[in-house]
Amino acid sequence: MGGMKKVYGLVGYPIAHSLSPAMHNAAFKAAGIEALYRLFDLDPGKPDDLANFCYEVDLNQMGGFSVTIPYKQAIMAYMDFYDPLAKTIGAVNTVKVKRDKKHDAPVLIGYNTDAGGALAALNEKTRLPGKRVLVMGAGGAARAVVYGLKAAGADVHVFNRTPEKAQALADEFDVNSIEYRIIKPEANFDVIINATSVGMTPNATESLLHADQIKKGSLVLDLVTDPMRTQLLKEAKQAGAETVAGARMLLFQAALQFKIWFGREAPFEAMEKALYAELEKR
Ligand code: NAP
Repeated sequence: MGGMKKVYGLVGYPIAHSLSPAMHNAAFKAAGIEALYRLFDLDPGKPDDLANFCYEVDLNQMGGFSVTIPYKQAIMAYMDFYDPLAKTIGAVNTVKVKRDKKHDAPVLIGYNTDAGGALAALNEKTRLPGKRVLVMGAGGAARAVVYGLKAAGADVHVFNRTPEKAQALADEFDVNSIEYRIIKPEANFDVIINATSVGMTPNATESLLHADQIKKGSLVLDLVTDPMRTQLLKEAKQAGAETVAGARMLLFQAALQFKIWFGREAPFEAMEKALYAELEKR
């Protein structure tokens, strides 16, 4: 019966251009799972909407959902349990809805797949232990990336527009915070990661760094997914650096979400194909 189909989705705002439905619906099809992944665009101007969404998971037949800006921290108040990693990072981007059979009630469990997604995307191109890595940003995504890099044995340096936040993040995860003026090729960063929203559409010509600040032969990952080829990645190419687009991280973190929801490996190739087909259309 159509009414029994489980629903998965993305909670955030604004999310109309999200690449997630294409990837997850392709995964469901490839894995033979009767489910639908859809968008839940919740206006931050209506604070009750997030609470109502969480209380109504049964009504919406939810099996789980992804969470993005601006709710990765706010959603934590509605979780019954957290994965320890999500608790340490302080942000939830994946929720699994389980059943408490005794009380016939839904149980919400929060996870974070951003750290794993970033590491997997970087690991396709480089080994991380001992590498000098610059992370730009100190928001939710930067926290996940810094945590993951530190755990992987990288030598992590954080820069942020608001320096106090970079310092607080560096203190919390026992890494270094640096000033903008240090960012030049002589600083010898092997990997540079943009975990800010700078360069996102409609400000796609903006970049925190210019080519003359990037070391030749280094690796640059931009978490921004829209546009796919950001100005920072163009500057990196010009500097003779290798690049990784945010879409690659998005793909790996989505595959981790699938595993959390269904307890088995994601049909990675089907998700990858759907993602790039969707990007082609844009
Ligand atoms: P967030 O918590 O709102 O943090 C935003 C960060 O960007 C802060 O460090 C902020 O600095 C900085 N920033 C914003 N505008 C800036 C400007 N004009 N100049 C300099 N710095 C600026 O957001 P988030 O959740 O961490 O997300 C950050 C980005 O990562 C977004 O583009 C998001 O879409 C992307 N992301 C991608 C993936 C993926 O899978 N590819 C996953 C997660 C997130 P201040 O502290 O000074 O305000």
